[in-house]
Amino acid sequence: MFCAFNRFFYYFRPLIFFIKINALRELICNFMKTLFSLLVFCIPFIIIGQNSPSVNSDPKLLNLIEEYSTIVNEDDNNIFSAATKKENVVDITAEFWDTDHVKIDYNQDVQFPINIQFKDSAYASPISRNKVVTSRYGWRKGRPHKGIDIDLITGDSLFAMFDGVVRIADYSSGHGRTVVVRHFNGLETLYAHLSRYGVKENDTVFAGSYLGKGGTSGNARGSHLHLEMNYKGVAVNPEYLLNFNDENKIRSQEIWITKAWTRPELHNSKRQSKLELFSTEEEVIADLNKPARMYIVKKGDTLSRISSRNNTTIAAICSSNNMRRNSTLRIGQKLIIE
Ligand SMILES: [Zn+2]
Repeated sequence: MFCAFNRFFYYFRPLIFFIKINALRELICNFMKTLFSLLVFCIPFIIIGQNSPSVNSDPKLLNLIEEYSTIVNEDDNNIFSAATKKENVVDITAEFWDTDHVKIDYNQDVQFPINIQFKDSAYASPISRNKVVTSRYGWRKGRPHKGIDIDLITGDSLFAMFDGVVRIADYSSGHGRTVVVRHFNGLETLYAHLSRYGVKENDTVFAGSYLGKGGTSGNARGSHLHLEMNYKGVAVNPEYLLNFNDENKIRSQEIWITKAWTRPELHNSKRQSKLELFSTEEEVIADLNKPARMYIVKKGDTLSRISSRNNTTIAAICSSNNMRRNSTLRIGQKLIIE
C-alpha cells in the first residue's frame, strides 16, 4: 500500500522535489491510507445494512409497522369521512317542516322554471313488481289527478325512491294512510292508500328503504299506489322526471321544470303526454321565448273538436283562455293553445 503511494510521488518527483519536507509527505500518505482503509471497512456494512433480510423480515417489527400504518390510515379515513359528511349534510328539516299536515303553506310563490338536480341516474322502485301505470298525472273526470297510480296487490311492500327524511306518516281523508318523504334536492314523494305504515315521522330513509304496505285506504277504488312528486307543495308530473319502466332511470341528472309540467289540466290522465325534456337552462329559456300557438275558431268548431285536433284538453283551452266549458265560441275568435 505504502509502495503504491510512493509510486504516485515517484511520478511527480519533479514537483515533489521542491517539497523538501519529508514529514509532510508522510502525513499526506498516512491520511490517504487511513481514508482508503475506512472506505474498505465500511462498504460491506453499508451493503448489508441496505439489503439485510434480517432487518425487514423481523415479524415483531413488521407487526409494529403494520399496526402503526393501520392507525394512521384509520385516522386519515375518519378525518376524510367526517369532512365529507359535514360537506354533504343539508338539514332538509330546518325550514317548513310540518309533520301534521300534508299541505304546507310555503308562504312564497314557486319560481319557474324549477331547477332540480339528482345525485344518481336511477331511483329505487317504489314496488318490487313490474310497474303498471293505471292512471296518469292529468285531468280526470273534471278534476285534477296530481300523481300517477301504480297497480299493486294489498300487502305489497313499498319503498322510498330516494334518500330523505319522513315528514308525514298519517291518515288523510282522500289519500288514506299516507307517507311523505322529503328529499335532499327539494322534492317530496307522496305514497298514498297504504294498508300499513313501516315508518314514522322524522325517520331517516334511504333509496329502497321499506316504508309500509300498499292497499286501498282512503278514496281508492282498487288497490294501487297513488304516487305524487311535489316541489314546495306544487305537484309535478312524475313521468316528466322519471321513467316508470323496469330500468328505474331518472330522465336526466339536471331537469328544468316549466309551469306546464305542474298543471294537470294540460295533461290527460288516460294517455302519456309528449315528454320533451329540458335538461339545460338554454333549452328551457328557448322554449319559454317561443310564441304561444293561436287557433282561429271556424264554423262548426266545438271545444272537444279543437282540443282533439290540437293534441290538448278542453280544460287546458279553458284555463289558457280564461273561459268555461260551456262558453259560446264565436267564428274568428282567437284561442291560445298550450
Ligand atoms: Zn291517484
